Amino acid sequence: MAEAQTAAKKQIPIVPFLRVPDDPSEKPHLWGSKCKQCGTVYLGARMACSKCFSTDPMEEVKLSEKGELHVFSIVHQSAPGIPVPYVAAIVDLPEGVSVRCNIEGVEPDPKNLQFGMPVEMYTQVVHTDKEGNEIVAFKFRPAKG
Ligand SMILES: [Zn+2]
Repeated sequence: MAEAQTAAKKQIPIVPFLRVPDDPSEKPHLWGSKCKQCGTVYLGARMACSKCFSTDPMEEVKLSEKGELHVFSIVHQSAPGIPVPYVAAIVDLPEGVSVRCNIEGVEPDPKNLQFGMPVEMYTQVVHTDKEGNEIVAFKFRPAKG
């Protein structure tokens, strides 16, 4: 156990399109690929553009942490071990990217949620593995202010 405690603890993003910087002063963020030909942005890595079919290497761009709730549904039944109800949603980011996510920080009741409401991304450690590495997930919550 002593060995595990002295090993450098890492934060590992749960999905490849979430970036958790090594520098703790930098905020975790979602990233996307921007087509250099037509400017379309995709979530995470992308081999080719589905708009202009360019296969040129894409430019990595940092995505906004704030977006709008595009669509949501309140999930009442899920796999064993997953607490219900929860809010499953698609959030639109200003870059033109849609992200599937859960909305937290609000009672899962339709009266608390509105299409187009501002939401913001945040991260949470959801698991610590045997080596002490933290598995980091992203969620969205209603934006303050
Ligand atoms: Zn393109």
